[in-house]
Order: sequence, then structure tokens, then C-alpha cells
Amino acid sequence: MAAVGAVSRALAELHARLAVVDDGAVADYIPQLALADPAAFGLALVSMDGHRYTAGDALAPLTIQSVSKPFVYALALAELGLDAVTARVGAEPSGEGFNAISLEPGTGRPANPMINAGALVITSLIPATGPAERFERILACLSAFAGRPLDVDEAVYASESRTGDRNRALAYLMRGAGSLTVAVEEAVDVYFRQCAVRVTAADLAVMAATLAGGGVNPVTGEPVVPELTAERVLAVMATCGMYDAAGDWLLRVGLPAKGGVSGALIACSPARFGIAAYSPPLDAVGNPVRGVLALRELSERYALHLMHHP
Ligand code: GLN
Repeated sequence: MAAVGAVSRALAELHARLAVVDDGAVADYIPQLALADPAAFGLALVSMDGHRYTAGDALAPLTIQSVSKPFVYALALAELGLDAVTARVGAEPSGEGFNAISLEPGTGRPANPMINAGALVITSLIPATGPAERFERILACLSAFAGRPLDVDEAVYASESRTGDRNRALAYLMRGAGSLTVAVEEAVDVYFRQCAVRVTAADLAVMAATLAGGGVNPVTGEPVVPELTAERVLAVMATCGMYDAAGDWLLRVGLPAKGGVSGALIACSPARFGIAAYSPPLDAVGNPVRGVLALRELSERYALHLMHHP
């Protein structure tokens, strides 16, 4: 990693240049998300020694949305093991949008854990005596990844709960096919709460750095998930994290990543750093426009692509 001043300068320069980009549209299918400021823009990077670098609105609150998916997948893998988890949710890129009906014919098994169908099943697999305890375990896990206690944005949760009928429909299809084994309302309720967990870009960078660092939080020093689990989550993020843009992302950026509808984006450079961007306007596939541009530029300029030959 370059010297401390150089990293801060690189983020500040990138932030200043991309702040003027005004492509994309803020998600409004969850009414509360439509209230986000399209000009909000934060960048944060956390290195393996736990040093945090930020630019812009890195401490602005946002809901984690789909960026929760890799972390809850990590919890499921750590608790149940790879075979038990892949029996229920595949690891194949769907090549479709985040809310697609990507279910295996016959079994109803979702294609991967980074899309809504797969995430609904993954969330339902977290061992617990009931939905309240299941959510507490998920919140505790997300908090351990972030290195501080997180909470729920109740307004965003309520807004998605009122309007999330597409996720209910997905859950009913999977329940009918036998691939979702808990009640539909119970499954979507824990999932909506998980998506409404409040974070900042700075938190997301710590979370990404924990995955990049083999499952050990570089700020708190706490081992959150086993090293092999972190490695597997990065692999699925690399192939499936960016929905139907996953192939193009691997081609151009070459880092495991995950985006979400609140404008959050994380990327992991294994054994080097975690980075996060927050900027609400999304492109046509639902990934944040400024975040995608920031990562493309950083990857090219600093040769961060996983396939890069040093
Ligand atoms: N809660 C959102 C949903 O299920 C998450 C989607 C996303 O961030 N891509 O629709």
C-alpha cells in the first residue's frame, strides 16, 4: 500500500472528480430510499493494519441493503459448512437482475446468494429458535464485521415491509417449490430488517477489509469468520456480486464486490484493503454509478485486478 498521505490524496482527488457525475437515478421502489440525497458521495478505505482513509460523506448514514448479502452468507457458511449451504443455494452467476426469479427448475434452488432469491433462503438458514433470535444473530454478525454495534433504520424497514411484494412473491415461489422452509412472512421480515441495518461508508470499508483480511477485523482484531469462509465469500462476490454486470465488472475491475440499492458499494483487495463508496444514484442494473466509476479508475490506476501479473 502506498504511503498514508498518498492514499488520502488519491481518494480526495477521485472524490472531487467524480462528485460532478450526475448520471443514474436514486432507487424509489422502496419509497423511503427515494428521499436520499443524490449528491451524497463518500469514499472510505481500510487497510490491513486497520488504518482508515476517507473522503466526502464517509460518515453519512445509509441502509446496507444488498451489501448485507455477502456477510450473512459468511455467517451461514461458518455455521453450516459449504456443502449444507450449497445444497440450498447455488454459486452460479444468474446473469439477471437482483430481483430475478433465478430458481433451478424442479427444485426451486436459487442461483446464488448475492441475489434476493438466494439471500432470502440464506437468511432463513441462520440457526435460531425463531425469527427474533435469527435477526439478533445477523445484527451481531454485521456489527462484528463493522467493529461497532449497528442498528436498524426503522423507517426504511417499515417502508420496504409495506411495499416488498416482489420479495414476498419470490419467497412464495420458493416455499411452493420446497426451497424455502420457513414461513414466507417470517423469511421476508428478517430479510427486510437485515437490509435496513444502518451503516456508513466507513463501516462498510471495515466490513470489506474484514473479508479481505481472511475474516479478521483489522480495526478490532476480532476473528469474525474463519479464513476459508472469507475466501469463499470473496469467490462468490467475484462471480455474482454485481448481478447482471458481474462479467463486465470482473473484466474491468477484477475485485470481489457487492453493490446495493441504497447506493452502497464494497470491493475487497485480498490481503490489502477493503473499500466502500456511497452514492445513491444507480445505473440500469442497480449498481451505484459513482461507486462503479471510482472502482474502475482505482483498479486501472493501481493495477488492482486479481488477474494482474505484477
Ligand atoms: N432490500 C432490497 C430488496 O430486496 C435490496 C436490493 C438491493 O440492494 N439490490 O429489494
